[in-house]
Amino acid sequence: MSISNSVPIPMPSQGYDMHTHSLRSDGTLTPSELVQRAHAAGVRVLALTDHDVTDGIAEAQTAADRLGLILIVGVEISVTWQNQTLHIVGLNINPDQTELQQGLARLREFRLWRAEEMGRRLRKKRIEGAYEGSARLAQGMIISRTHFARFLVDQGYVRGPQQAFRQFLGRGKPGYVPGRWASLAEAVQWIVSAGGQAVVAHPARYKLSAGKLRQMLGEFRECGGAAIEVISGSHSPDAIHHFAGIAREHGFLASAGSDFHGPQNTWMDLGRLPALPEGCVPVWQEWDLEMKPLTNSDGCRLVN
Ligand code: AMP
Ligand code: MN
Ligand code: MN
Ligand code: MN
Repeated sequence: MSISNSVPIPMPSQGYDMHTHSLRSDGTLTPSELVQRAHAAGVRVLALTDHDVTDGIAEAQTAADRLGLILIVGVEISVTWQNQTLHIVGLNINPDQTELQQGLARLREFRLWRAEEMGRRLRKKRIEGAYEGSARLAQGMIISRTHFARFLVDQGYVRGPQQAFRQFLGRGKPGYVPGRWASLAEAVQWIVSAGGQAVVAHPARYKLSAGKLRQMLGEFRECGGAAIEVISGSHSPDAIHHFAGIAREHGFLASAGSDFHGPQNTWMDLGRLPALPEGCVPVWQEWDLEMKPLTNSDGCRLVN
């Protein structure tokens, strides 16, 4: 059968990945490599959601247009809520919106200061050059703790990134600098004002009691939040079941995203997401997506 211009939208969440990173934040693939890999893995609708930056969108869009993949313009915003860091994904945003970009610029300024401060704190632990080394790994893009983890691994201070977080970079560890990120209300407001939908990223990852989680979701909804990630690369089957129930109970839309950072993170590659559980309403349900025929990397139409 050859593919016509009106390809039916696949079932939820087959072919949808609403949470990925490129090297514009702490991923390892360029935006176009990411798009190519997603396309090869069967992803049809891909959101690029770099941390606190939308710089990768233009390159990703060019690659997506060439392959007939639908790119959703996204971002993952760092938030401080009651001394905890939360991540709020914005989907389907207008990246040129001023309020959003001013907010993200403020977070990147804090990020830069924090990286220097992390370097100073690690120096007190006799780790020299951590800021400079991590900045080099970040190649002029934002500097995240992921870059510090890579530096610590490369220099032989730890065996792997998990140990880097456990020993140096995690909350309360010597290199940890408490966040002064956006408030929950600000992050949602920036996303909504940019015409997008706000999604609580990987809710199972936060160390919140059931009561605090409920409070956070209540505030999130009050300020205009729309969805939670039910499916995440870091969610166990139990967590998927649990957050599907919470989405239904609170009336949130459900999102699905791998949180892919690069091929080296083999626990969650692109194109492997399970379908959303019964009863979940996908966050993309009401989007007007124009499915184009898939093409190969030379722009030739694929037939299946
Ligand atoms: P930052 O936004 O700079 O504080 O960095 C947070 C990023 O570090 C997250 O987006 C993850 O990619 C990564 N990260 C957080 N915790 C861990 C961990 N335990 N092991 C590996 N990577 C982690
Ligand atoms: Mn990350
Ligand atoms: Mn995150
Ligand atoms: Mn992420």
